[in-house]
Amino acid sequence: MTTRITHWIDGKPYGGTTERSGDVFDPATGQVTGRVDLADAATVDQAVASAASAAEVWANTSLTARTRVMFAFRELLAARKDDIAAAITAEHGKVLSDAAGEVSRGLEVVEFACGIPHLLKGDFSENVSTKVDVYSIRQALGVVAVISPFNFPAMVPLWFVPVAIAAGNAVVLKPSEKDPSASLLIAQLWAEAGLPEGVFTVVHGDKVAVDRLLEHPDVAAVSFVGSTPIARYVYETGTRNGKRVQALGGAKNHMLVLPDADLDLVADAAVNAGFGSAGERCMAISALVAVEPVADDLIARIRERMATLKIGDGRRGCDMGPLVTRQHRDKVASYIDAGREAGATVVVDGRGHEVDGAAEGFWLGPTLLDHVTPQMSVYTDEIFGPVLSVVRVQSYDEGLALINDNPYGNGTAIFTNDGGAARRFQNEVQVGMVGVNVPIPVPVAQYSFGGWKDSLFGDSHAYGEDGIKFFTRGKVVTSRWLDPSHGGLNLGFPQNT
Ligand code: NAD
Repeated sequence: MTTRITHWIDGKPYGGTTERSGDVFDPATGQVTGRVDLADAATVDQAVASAASAAEVWANTSLTARTRVMFAFRELLAARKDDIAAAITAEHGKVLSDAAGEVSRGLEVVEFACGIPHLLKGDFSENVSTKVDVYSIRQALGVVAVISPFNFPAMVPLWFVPVAIAAGNAVVLKPSEKDPSASLLIAQLWAEAGLPEGVFTVVHGDKVAVDRLLEHPDVAAVSFVGSTPIARYVYETGTRNGKRVQALGGAKNHMLVLPDADLDLVADAAVNAGFGSAGERCMAISALVAVEPVADDLIARIRERMATLKIGDGRRGCDMGPLVTRQHRDKVASYIDAGREAGATVVVDGRGHEVDGAAEGFWLGPTLLDHVTPQMSVYTDEIFGPVLSVVRVQSYDEGLALINDNPYGNGTAIFTNDGGAARRFQNEVQVGMVGVNVPIPVPVAQYSFGGWKDSLFGDSHAYGEDGIKFFTRGKVVTSRWLDPSHGGLNLGFPQNT
C-alpha cells in the first residue's frame, strides 16, 4: 500500500487533487511506499497567496509573541526527534542515529533563532547632529522560498526556516520530492507550537514548482540548496526576476594529511567522513590527499576499518544504509569502473560488501580508490556516494594547489600536529569551511554555513548573522523633534552641526 503525500497549505494538509505525482521509495527495501503530489503553478500560487496574507500579520506580531512560538517549536522538535528520524530513514535510507543527528543539528539553528529579540536589535546614535538622532531597524521581507535537497530532509530546511520565521517572514518550503515526509512532520510541529496558518507552507514538487517560485512576484527571496548546475540556474533565474537569492551548490571536499599526523586518528576520520550517510553529505570527504610517504600505511589502516563496517537497513543498527534511489546507486557504482579504466587502483570495491537488508535495496558498500589523479572523472565529478579517492602528493604545496584548483570550495580539512602548517592552511586555502583535525567542519549555528566558488552562488551564507541579514532588510531613520532652533530656509545639502 502506498501513502499519498500532499502539500501543507493554510496550516493543514492540502485538500485538492493533483495531476502529477512521483514515487517515494524505501531505499532499504526498494519498494515504493508513497506517492508525492507534484505541484503545478496554480497550486504554488495558492500556497504563495496564503503565505503572503499570513506574512503581513506575522511581521507585525510582537517579538515576544514570535519568540514564544520559537521556544514552543524548539521543545516539540526535541520531543519528536525520533519520529522525524524514523521518517527520514524510511525515505532517505540513512541509519537512524545519523537521521537523529541531523535533526539535532537543525535544532541548534532553532535555538539560535530563539534569540531573535537580541538578534534583531538595531543601533541608536543620539545627537549625531544637534538634536538629531539616527537609528537602524531590520524588517522582514515578506514571503521567502526555501528549496532543499534530498540528503538532509530535516536539517537543511531547518538551516533557513527558523531564522526566516523568527525574523517575521512567511516561508514556502519546497522539499526534495525524494524524501518529502519529514517536512510535513515539521509543519505539524509548527502548527502545534502556535504558528499562525500560512506562516509555514510546504509545496511538494519538481522543476515546475521551483520555476513558479522563482518567477512569482510575491516571493521576495529564495534560499536554495542542491547540486551546482541547479544552484547556478536558481541563482541566475531568481536574481533576474529581482529576488534576493542564496544558492548553495555541490562539493568535492578534500582532506589533506601531512606526514606528521596520527594515522590511526586520520583513518578513523576518513572512514567516518567518507562513508557516513553513504557519502551523501555535501561535507563528506571524497578526496583524501596524502602527502607522501604516508599513503601506503594510511590506506592499510583505512582498509582494516572498512572491513568492519556493517552495511544494511538503517533501522537495524548498521553503520551505513543504502543510497537514495536505484538510479543514483547505479551512477555511483559506475564510477568504480570509470576509475579503474582511467588507471586508478580499486583497493576496495563496495559492490562486494555483505549487506544486512532486502535484496532489492539500493546498496553499495564503501569503496576505496588509490592512485587517483586530478584528470580522472572520479576526481573531477561530485560522486555523492561512498567512494573515497586517495590522491598522492609529494608536498604540502602540491596538496594545497590541488585543493585550490578545484572548482568547488565547500569544506576541507587538514590533519597534522604542526600548528604552523595548520595556520598556514587556514589562511591559504580557497574554501569556505575549514577543519583543523576536524573532517566535517559544519559550523555551529551562531557562525554561518557556506562554501566558496561553485559551492555557493550569492553573497550570504546560511544561518548565523548572515541568515538574519539575508531574511531582513535594513532601514536607517534620521529623526529630530522640531523646535524653533530648526527653523529657517537653507537649500544646501544637509550638514551635521
Ligand atoms: P538537486 O540539485 O537534484 O535538487 C535540489 C532541489 O532542486 C530539489 O528540491 C529538487 O526538486 C530541485 N530541482 C531538481 N532539478 C531541478 C531543475 N531542473 N530545476 C529546478 N529545480 C530542480 O540536488 P539533490 O540531488 O537533491 O541533492 C544533492 C546535491 O545537493 C549535491 O550536489 C550536494 O552537494 C548538494 N548539497 C549541497 C549542500 C551545501 O550546503 N552546499 C548541502 C546539501 C546538499
